[in-house]
Amino acid sequence: MILTTLGTSHLGLPILSYQIGSGKKHALILGGVHGDEIEGAAFVYALLEKCRSQPVDGLKITFIPTFNVDGVLLKTRVNARGVDLNRNLPTSDWKKEAFNPRYPPGETANSENENQALTTFINSHKLDFIFSFHSFSKFLLNVNGNCEPIASFIHKNTGYPIEESMGYPTPGCLGTYTGLEKGIPTITYELERGKEIPVLISQHLETVYKSLSLI
Ligand SMILES: [Zn+2]
Repeated sequence: MILTTLGTSHLGLPILSYQIGSGKKHALILGGVHGDEIEGAAFVYALLEKCRSQPVDGLKITFIPTFNVDGVLLKTRVNARGVDLNRNLPTSDWKKEAFNPRYPPGETANSENENQALTTFINSHKLDFIFSFHSFSKFLLNVNGNCEPIASFIHKNTGYPIEESMGYPTPGCLGTYTGLEKGIPTITYELERGKEIPVLISQHLETVYKSLSLI
């Protein structure tokens, strides 16, 4: 396992990434983009440990379990500057005006330290697949780009619906940036918000782990 500091947060804390496995294919797995969605961060840690003890054949995986490290520690959706990191990416649909005041997109696209570290990483590696684990009252697999057969495999085993849209505009989000604009299939995995973490792990870990072999 290779531990790297991808960059630093607004509070000066390291954004840690853990690289596991080796092979021609490379997947990126994010958690904690929204600091108050602790289910996603916890799940990525569990998946990291599973893949560390049982590496996936032919697949290199970069894990960033607590991407918005300040938000995770402060228990806020936004980062320490009050910006929603999943509305701040430099997509063609990014706008300075917030579609929803709860989701401030920042002063300019890619203005935040965390996203600058992430976009630098994405643009300097050839990635084959991205998962970003969040949590939401409505559980679903939000797919951007061609996420088959992975999305169908997860749907079949968890019953989570596959949706191409969250049902409301999400300018500046990761799915648009990587899935639609960079051609890297991206699943924004919305776990059930508030469900006990051990239950979520028991319901999703094996399935997500097995799906990685399909990348
Ligand atoms: Zn979220």
